[in-house]
Amino acid sequence: MKQNYPIFFYKSIEFFTKLYIIVIPKYYEETRGKNMENKNLIEIAKNAMKNAYVPYSNFRVGAALLTEDGKVFTGCNVENATYGATNCAERTAIFKAVSEGYRNFKKIAIISDSPNFTYPCGICRQVIMEYGKNIEVICANRDGEFKVHNICELLPYAFTNEDIERSRINE
Ligand SMILES: [Zn+2]
Repeated sequence: MKQNYPIFFYKSIEFFTKLYIIVIPKYYEETRGKNMENKNLIEIAKNAMKNAYVPYSNFRVGAALLTEDGKVFTGCNVENATYGATNCAERTAIFKAVSEGYRNFKKIAIISDSPNFTYPCGICRQVIMEYGKNIEVICANRDGEFKVHNICELLPYAFTNEDIERSRINE
């Protein structure tokens, strides 16, 4: 015999199913992303380093970029026979994020095989600066030890969009 329950019974099952399967995991993921520890971000960068395409330098670099809303984009260096067409890990991560609609970044972790701390090159410093003066740059060595710098420390007196705005005002 088929038993009929009142409609609110089905509605409440639907409600709790949505809560447990969709809402809570999404909240958990976002909270975890926002509070992500530097060492976790370095671990993600280290994993991304595995995909580095480095037939010329054999110097593998990985990066992990954390957005303000807790999403992580990874990158590795991608070399090219022309050398000049090479792209760094940091820019790979940033361009991936920007191309998917993200522009607000909190921090970026960089790691390589080197025993020294891995700092971003000049071009990458400029590209990081484009998205804010408060971005933290976490420079790790192969053992996962790291130093944290604000992008302004790494690129003092940077040329930014403010300089372009200022020149327009003075016209
Ligand atoms: Zn670079």
